[in-house]
Amino acid sequence: MSTFDSTDAATAGAILTIDLGALVANWRALGARAGAEAGAVVKANAYGIGIEPAVTALARAGCRSFFVAHLSEGIRVRSVAPDAAVYILNGLLPDTCGVYAEHGLSPVLGSHEELLEWASFRQTGAQVRPAALHVDTAMNRLGLWPGEGLNLARERSGVIAAAGIGLVMSHFASSEDEADPANARQIAAFAEIAAAFPDTPASLKNSSGHFLKDCPSYQLTRPGYALYGGNPTPGQANPMQPVIGLEARIIQLREVEPGTQVGYNGRWTAKSRRKLATICLGYADGYPRNASWTDTVTGGSALVGGVICPFVGSVSMDLIIVDVTDAPAGAAVRGASVTLIGGSLDIETVGAGAKTVGYEILTSLGRRYARRYVGL
Ligand SMILES: *Cc1c(COP(=O)(O)O)cnc(C)c1O
Repeated sequence: MSTFDSTDAATAGAILTIDLGALVANWRALGARAGAEAGAVVKANAYGIGIEPAVTALARAGCRSFFVAHLSEGIRVRSVAPDAAVYILNGLLPDTCGVYAEHGLSPVLGSHEELLEWASFRQTGAQVRPAALHVDTAMNRLGLWPGEGLNLARERSGVIAAAGIGLVMSHFASSEDEADPANARQIAAFAEIAAAFPDTPASLKNSSGHFLKDCPSYQLTRPGYALYGGNPTPGQANPMQPVIGLEARIIQLREVEPGTQVGYNGRWTAKSRRKLATICLGYADGYPRNASWTDTVTGGSALVGGVICPFVGSVSMDLIIVDVTDAPAGAAVRGASVTLIGGSLDIETVGAGAKTVGYEILTSLGRRYARRYVGL
């Protein structure tokens, strides 16, 4: 067992396997592709796989820059990566500078107010790491307007110098869609910003950014999703190695006659004689309820003995019912494991079955699974 394993597999209904070797291989592959330093975005508990094991593995492999959303997540990264740069993407909330100083964290400053507050904190003589400056080139979410960024860059002695900026960055709005003209506009807007800060390292690429044509890598990239096996090139073959696998056990089997209604509110009706298996996982484990099948709406599925078997009826809190009529008889037996994520059921397919994106499947991964960390 690895130090980070939780819940004994013998007592859990479902097992989540996390391949830290594949995580590290994906990080190396992205860095090689970029020809620049690859950082790692480990927000949201490292996209669900566990911040401490992910950061420990990546830091040992040589990753020196981590990005999280919240200050609380940054403190967790610091606890296992004492030397790395740790950037807090959500920016500087009022009166938190002391926490940054205490844990050696770096705010990603995205407004004039944030710059001023950080600069005055530094002027008190506080020992802090360099901050990052966020310029918004499309999202209208966080960051300075590009014009504001350019103006501040020209006033070299002003607030930028006082704030101690060690990185300038921007974030893509639709890099997974190569055909979106917004990409070229963002690349051009950020090129101006980077040129205005010639002595400061720059960072633009998220996962999909690594696969965009005509996009410079600058000094540092910020992959998240692709590290965890998500496909950064949707619609094309996934260049990344799968990192997670999810298996749940069959509790009961039954055969139902045509016309039988199944699950809460009888939303699904058998059209012929079907063999059903009830498995040990549900929406309380983070498997979306939107993956329910009804008589009119399609949903998620499981791999049983290598065969794709659709769910039937509503996803319950702790249980899902699967139509195993077409599965090999030996695979659909009491106690057997079925695959929810793995093989042809990759994260994108699971997301599509639940009318969402793979990102949400990852970040919803439940806390009741036995988690097995392998591959290192
Ligand atoms: C989440 C995030 C990333 C990582 O994006 P992926 O698409 O998961 O690679 C990079 N930069 C910023 C600012 C982010 O918020």
